[in-house]
Amino acid sequence: MFHLIALPYAPDALAPVISARTLEFHHGKHLQGYVDNLNKLIAGTPFAQMPLEEIVRLSEGAVFNNAGQILNHNLYFTQFTDKPSVPPAGRLAARIERQWGTLEAFKAEFEAKGTSLFGSGWVWLSADADGTLAISQEPGAGNPVVRGLRPLLTFDVWEHAYYLDWQNRRAAHLSALWQFVDWTEIARRYDEALV
Ligand code: MN
Repeated sequence: MFHLIALPYAPDALAPVISARTLEFHHGKHLQGYVDNLNKLIAGTPFAQMPLEEIVRLSEGAVFNNAGQILNHNLYFTQFTDKPSVPPAGRLAARIERQWGTLEAFKAEFEAKGTSLFGSGWVWLSADADGTLAISQEPGAGNPVVRGLRPLLTFDVWEHAYYLDWQNRRAAHLSALWQFVDWTEIARRYDEALV
């Protein structure tokens, strides 16, 4: 039985980039819907005993879509902070610098891949077991965990994530999200991937 995660900030903490009204629908309706759907779909099946990531790795069709969307949104909503965003430090910062040169160059590629993703989906930063980072475009409920990678950071480019506040201006929305990214949390996920 899966449950809706609590948001680690007030509903209006990310406004106007993500308004309280967007969060009300995105977290309270869309994510709640995926949780309710998955619980119905897996009741009485072997999936009911599995952790979420395992379901995502092993399932397809409706179970995959709903489980993937729960995993994606749980990582998405908990990567933002209402405190001033501090640039990444430690091993994650060193790796970004090694692969992209600067944090700004990394952000530019991440935004461009989110903006150019056709239709609904997610842009992800993930790490392999050696710590190599990669940016990927994942359609629908996609998550790089299905390829054995550790998901670190994601921007949701489904229209439900930004349309109430930004309408068609996806690129501007993505660019404005960085101010809320909790790099301490992303670095923690990265360090965990390397253990
Ligand atoms: Mn979403």
